[in-house]
Amino acid sequence: MEIDEAREVRTTCPYCGVGCGVLAKVAADGEVSVRGDPDHPANFGRLCSKGSALAETIDLDGRLLHPEIHGRRAGWDEALDLVASTFSQTIAEHGPDAVAFYVSGQLLTEDYYVANKLMKGFVGSANIDTNSRLCMASSVAGHRRAFGSDTVPGTYEDLELADLIVLVGSNLAWCHPVLYQRIAAAREKRPEMKIVLVDPRRTMTADIADMHLAIAPDGDVALFTGLLAYLGRHNALDRAYITTHTTGFGQALFAASALDLAGVAAATGLSEDELGRFYSLFAATAKTVTVYSQGVNQSSSGTDKVNAIINCHLATARIGKPGAGPFSVTGQPNAMGGREVGGMANMLAAHMEIENPDHRDRVQRFWSAPDIAQKPGLKAVEMFQALADGRIKALWIMATNPVDSMPDADAVEAAIKACPFVVVSDVLARTDTVRHAHVRLPAAAWGEKDGTVTNSERRVSRQRAFLELPGEVLPDWRIVAEVGQRMGFGEAFSYATPAEVFAEHAALSGFENDGVRDFDIGVYGGVDGETYATLEPFQWPAPGRADPFWPAGHLPLKGGDQPAARLSPIANAAEEAPVSKLLVSPLEGEMAGRPEGVGTTGLQVRFFADGNFYTPDRKARFIAIRPTTEVRTSPDYPLILNTGRIRDHWHTMTRTGKSPRLSQHIAEPFVEIHPVDAQRFGIGDADIVRVSSPRGDVLVRALVTARQRQGSLFAPMHWTDQFSAKGRLDTLTAPLTDPISGQPALKHVAARIEKFAAKAFGFAVTRHRPSPDAAAYWAVAKCKGGWRVELAFAEDDIDWVGFAGSLFGASPGAEMLAYHDCDAGQHRIAAFDGDQLSGALFVAPGPVAVSRGWAAEQLSADHVDRRGRLAIVAGRPGGVDVDRGAIVCSCFGVGANQIVEAVRRGCGSVAAIGAALHAGTNCGSCRAEIRVIIEAQSLQAAE
Ligand code: SF4
Repeated sequence: MEIDEAREVRTTCPYCGVGCGVLAKVAADGEVSVRGDPDHPANFGRLCSKGSALAETIDLDGRLLHPEIHGRRAGWDEALDLVASTFSQTIAEHGPDAVAFYVSGQLLTEDYYVANKLMKGFVGSANIDTNSRLCMASSVAGHRRAFGSDTVPGTYEDLELADLIVLVGSNLAWCHPVLYQRIAAAREKRPEMKIVLVDPRRTMTADIADMHLAIAPDGDVALFTGLLAYLGRHNALDRAYITTHTTGFGQALFAASALDLAGVAAATGLSEDELGRFYSLFAATAKTVTVYSQGVNQSSSGTDKVNAIINCHLATARIGKPGAGPFSVTGQPNAMGGREVGGMANMLAAHMEIENPDHRDRVQRFWSAPDIAQKPGLKAVEMFQALADGRIKALWIMATNPVDSMPDADAVEAAIKACPFVVVSDVLARTDTVRHAHVRLPAAAWGEKDGTVTNSERRVSRQRAFLELPGEVLPDWRIVAEVGQRMGFGEAFSYATPAEVFAEHAALSGFENDGVRDFDIGVYGGVDGETYATLEPFQWPAPGRADPFWPAGHLPLKGGDQPAARLSPIANAAEEAPVSKLLVSPLEGEMAGRPEGVGTTGLQVRFFADGNFYTPDRKARFIAIRPTTEVRTSPDYPLILNTGRIRDHWHTMTRTGKSPRLSQHIAEPFVEIHPVDAQRFGIGDADIVRVSSPRGDVLVRALVTARQRQGSLFAPMHWTDQFSAKGRLDTLTAPLTDPISGQPALKHVAARIEKFAAKAFGFAVTRHRPSPDAAAYWAVAKCKGGWRVELAFAEDDIDWVGFAGSLFGASPGAEMLAYHDCDAGQHRIAAFDGDQLSGALFVAPGPVAVSRGWAAEQLSADHVDRRGRLAIVAGRPGGVDVDRGAIVCSCFGVGANQIVEAVRRGCGSVAAIGAALHAGTNCGSCRAEIRVIIEAQSLQAAE
């Protein structure tokens, strides 16, 4: 690829399911900069903290650049031949179900399509599943039960048009920040908009909520069946819609009425008053959107939760209309694309059903496939269990890290280690999963690869390369296609470009599809390289057949051959076809600061506007759901552990862990505990604690906070063996799944907590990546100029100078300065190579109080002055430096102490803090935290 230095490349963020457009630019000196794409309809120029820091994550440090076999460098031919021959041989000896692919929502649609085609059409097994199984499989199952198809009806614009937004198990402020910002901006323009947050924790999203329902874990089914019963009791149903467009209402209402209000209160942990206020608000507000994500999906009753929510929307006809509908938002950048290609073990390509013989026949004919899979394959948890018991003998893992992210992670790791043949395609040479691979295949990273992704509102966008492929790296679609060819399926895998893959995927979606399948992007079936290169973001469906419901005038294609000729000439379906399957409308006015006017990318496409669904009778199905309660706690494990994500890290930190900016927000694994529980278990703030379940244990930092629900714990899932001594949280979670979706219950784990009897605590900054194995607890995080390390020790009779020397990796001639107060257990050691700090270690009998930001900055400073060197050993800033405190605004490095000080000086709003400190004025991801600090200071001042 030729790099045009003056050109900004339009691409898409590789993190969450919001799917923000990004403009990336490579300067003449090779430096990459990114900014939000103002023309992308997902974000209109916004990026969150993770998206803003993308340029910090693309270096080649730690990259896997060459194929490896058993740890030695190999050529592509040798590695690909070995993969192909081993898979072929295993299939020949043990049958097609003895092999499996475990893939990822990080893959691009083209990668996903080729992998799925190879496994389901040519190997003849459906043993391909994805880490999206851990993210939104329950939503897929719920959609299919209710709608007869995996259809997300609405659009992001609905969030701005709604009068009531109900956020269920969804911490948008941290996990989908740009959607949160769009809602916050819309609310500023329409203060009458109401927001209800349903979440056991008072997350940062509560900042914009009018009502926070701190629901008991897994109380959601009771909450929404209770709502359905309430709607029935209070004559708040749309009877005409129910009669005309749905089936099963009577049974659903009967089942929902199993609990009276007092019963719902008991099952949800909410008061009858709270329930009454929420229910009456919902009943009275026609324009209601219910947003849900992992808090709903990652549950043993996840599918029922989804259908309990959808039932309430069907009962009130709040679906397929501007500002109304149930809305599943996905975690991963291409979870939706994976669903479209059938990358899950229980789906076929293009939203067709693997159990349906007509669908199998159609896909087989389209692919000219020799051996189409006849039955669903193993879902993720089942797949690793089959690996453990030897049914699967060859596994290919692509772009994911199951040793850290799968439940019962130690058992998963043991199964991978025991598997006779493991292939891993990855961008990194060192992850907890890559270390067990027999064959390592170097895959292209974000910025290097070309393809498409689909976001949560069904919008397909291009990811475009702006960097050369480094080393011998190849894109995933190409690697899989090469293996397919070497397995003897040459013609079917002879793609030369990702455009060819996309065109085939699009053609399959439209193949023999007369509007009976929701997923149809057939208009792109003949797409050529030029059109693909300039493809604008578009929402599906985009059928290629003549369709009276699709407005050809709004065809979202630019450049190359225009397949528009194949479309109906109807200019505005919304006007001319009042009974339409789709509601296609332009953007409704200037909302939330986005540009005025309607471009080709500004179309908003809603499903089910006419009440026709994809079931055989075209009616939506109510699902009869009885609320059940399950007690998982026991005297040995009396608490409920909820796992999740934080603002500035992504999955297992393989990318965000490279960014100093992102690592400064929260730099170590932690657990949130309510003050009452902390007192009960003898835990103080910042203690190191052991959290255990029947499966394993982790060592993390305690964060005592009333934002946590009493009786529950919360801990993030990001930390791995690469960043912590014992922080792999999914070693605690059980392989317990929803019986319909197969999604693991990652948010309701019986656990206990106890203080780790640390004899000494430490904090260090080092220029080189440290290996602090002598410490019982450690966590490393990137900082500007090096690394910062949190430490705790089971013993305190340690040769601290020797430990510091090995930690710093300083040269033999380095100057060491040390301060020891053995009685007080205080030790401070610093080493200088010339004028530079090699490392500094601070040891204390309790959590170390030194300013992290100041200490990290010393790695980048010159240390000519001896007084300055002594200030480091003294452990406090000299001169005018102030301790910024914990970093809140990653973009400008503004800490909590600075914000508190600004509030004391009279800054009483987020805008005022922004004017004074710049905090919150770039990506905006920290605005919720700033607001919380302002409120806390105001309360304190009022007391
Ligand atoms: Fe990326 Fe943030 Fe946008 Fe998600 S919200 S796509 S992480 S920039």
